[in-house]
Amino acid sequence: MSINLLDFDAKGLTGFCAEIGEKPFRARQLLRWIHRAGEADFDAMSDLAKGLREKLSAAAVIEPPKVISDHTAPDGTRKWLLSVGAGNGIETVYIPEKSRGTLCISSQVGCALACAFCSTGRQGFNRNLTVAEIIGQLWWANKALTETFTSEAGRERPVTNIVMMGMGEPLTNFENVVTSLDLMLDDNAYGLSRRRVTVSTSGIIPAMDRLRERCPVALAVSLHAPNDALRDQLVPINRKYPIRELLAACERYLQSAPRDFITFEYVMLDGVNDSMAQAHELVQLVRDIPCKFNLIPFNPFPDSGFRRSSANAVSRFRDVLMEAGLVTTVRKTRGDDIAAACGQLAGKVLDKTRRVHRSIAEAAG
Ligand code: SF4
Repeated sequence: MSINLLDFDAKGLTGFCAEIGEKPFRARQLLRWIHRAGEADFDAMSDLAKGLREKLSAAAVIEPPKVISDHTAPDGTRKWLLSVGAGNGIETVYIPEKSRGTLCISSQVGCALACAFCSTGRQGFNRNLTVAEIIGQLWWANKALTETFTSEAGRERPVTNIVMMGMGEPLTNFENVVTSLDLMLDDNAYGLSRRRVTVSTSGIIPAMDRLRERCPVALAVSLHAPNDALRDQLVPINRKYPIRELLAACERYLQSAPRDFITFEYVMLDGVNDSMAQAHELVQLVRDIPCKFNLIPFNPFPDSGFRRSSANAVSRFRDVLMEAGLVTTVRKTRGDDIAAACGQLAGKVLDKTRRVHRSIAEAAG
């Protein structure tokens, strides 16, 4: 089987070049062709000698996941369903705004963490995505979007921000995610700043500490509850890594983070976590942590068992946080009509776990 060069960051490509008897600067050239120019055909790499192009064609491929479907909603949100083999699909979503374009990337096929309100979690876990499958989502989106993108006020390129918030818990696929982050940040590849790349975690504490040391990008934490009793129900990994320990890990992370705050995500579930008392409890809980809140109106899916909080409940909840000095945004529900909003990145997963809860501890390591 040929080697897929999308699996390599700069270090990996340098090693590959050494193996085929080429100098390290070839790795830099390859990085630029593959990721900056979006080129998958060695023959089009005009500054590589013919002999080298032939050597590359014989030894390697540049192969992103295949696109199964491509939909654009009226508000411009665009969603791709990508095939990752064996009947499994993953989703990647592009959300254009005036001054930025955000790409939401998946890290696993399904997810083992079984958060109660999450459509992906309901499907169970199949496998980790490879680096080629993770970075391939950005590779593909850049290529597809560049075809129609015209430089707009405030930004020169379509994808300016990445959020690892698609299917899966990124920090349980640590090495492949971090290699992909390296590529996102590499000036010879996508050249994004650490502030514009966000990893979202449900709170895998040892991996948060490793990320802080290895590649401290912006961090979002799925909090969703103001106390352990409720979070144990909504985000079962909380039973292993409870809130106090999670908040301590957030404080440690902030010592190296590119932003001076953590973003807490909080899905708004009618009658479950959206009362005034819970808003006040939340304020007390995070009073020592520099943070911002992102309130996410729940996107119902069949048999979820939850309802979206009313607009009034969301506003009242936000006001309590704001009055306590916490910067709070309410996520716009975009792309609902193409099922591309948070918690709806369902793809198509053939569950290998069968018993989802069993794999929570395994995934957390
Ligand atoms: S919310 Fe995130 S961590 Fe929880 S089950 Fe869904 S994808 Fe996994």
